[in-house]
Amino acid sequence: MTPLLEVTGLHKTYDNGVRAVNGIDLHVDRGETLGVVGESGSGKSTAARLILRLTEPDAGAVRLEGEDVLAMRGRRLREARGRMQFVPQDPASALNPRMTVRQSIEFNLRAHRWPAPARRERIAELLDAVGLGAEMSGRRPHELSGGQVQRVALARALATRPDLVICDEPVSGLDRSVQAQVLNLLVRLQRELGVAMIFISHDLTVVEHIADRVAVMYLGTVVEEASAERLWHNAMHPYSRALLSAIPGTSGARIILEGDPPSPRAVPSGCVFSSRCAYAIDECRRAVPPLEDRGAHQRVACIRAPIAWAELSPLDPASLNASRGASNGLTAHPA
Ligand code: ADP
Ligand code: MG
Repeated sequence: MTPLLEVTGLHKTYDNGVRAVNGIDLHVDRGETLGVVGESGSGKSTAARLILRLTEPDAGAVRLEGEDVLAMRGRRLREARGRMQFVPQDPASALNPRMTVRQSIEFNLRAHRWPAPARRERIAELLDAVGLGAEMSGRRPHELSGGQVQRVALARALATRPDLVICDEPVSGLDRSVQAQVLNLLVRLQRELGVAMIFISHDLTVVEHIADRVAVMYLGTVVEEASAERLWHNAMHPYSRALLSAIPGTSGARIILEGDPPSPRAVPSGCVFSSRCAYAIDECRRAVPPLEDRGAHQRVACIRAPIAWAELSPLDPASLNASRGASNGLTAHPA
């Protein structure tokens, strides 16, 4: 069956030479939530903008139910945009500060040619769905809390009854307690509406909670893709293992990342992760490893995987510390 969204070979190098997205393949089925996880700077937001055509890709294809979005113009492009909506990373700046909640949502409905009476009805319905009282409709963004702003951004995104919503770090800017509320709301709405979602986050625990499938990004490439369950229990790529290791309380083989992420202007040859990988061999630096199917819908871009983690672990902390460069946010220490 044709997936709802299919992305192939997507590339984007910015004018400043940053290779933000380096040939990614993704797909999302109807009603499914795909999590996209990776460190800051790995190209997650750029990938979202390319899919939505807010930024034009250098190469690659984006297909919505088999139709080439990149070739669309005019009315067809507008319709596709109505079917793919965006909750951006910083909704406070994405909402027009001069517009009330009602006006923000209505703006989206108007852009997609909803008639006035239907718009009014839809706005009431949406405010209710995201748990905002009708009295909120006259407020402007500065009169709302962070969680409320995020609910408005979500209502606006859902307004046109899209098939797909791309949420870019939708809870990253919120307090922990509010994060949980907004996440639960997302899960509930996703189930009730059957809308497909791409959920972007740097936090694997958040992604694991919400996603059916997860794509792990590193320096503009997808290094592993698997069901959330499979990734959590049987991640194969050393970078995925490193992300898991960094979560407090996880058990199993610990992976420590060596050094800092390389500059996206000077992406390593061969495997992009090779410069930080404790298991890299010469061959890893020669060719980009393909994302290969390892069964159970798990795809891994690593010629060394699966590494016999149990045999390698626990890693010798002394030798690793000696060879490690500057520490980074993902460093985890062997148990
Ligand atoms: P993420 O969302 O995973 O943090 P981004 O897609 O925002 O990653 O950024 C990927 C890389 O592209 C980073 O190195 C970032 O600095 C760079 N980048 C992002 N947007 C631009 C832009 N408009 N112009 C130039 N470089 C950019
Ligand atoms: Mg981002």
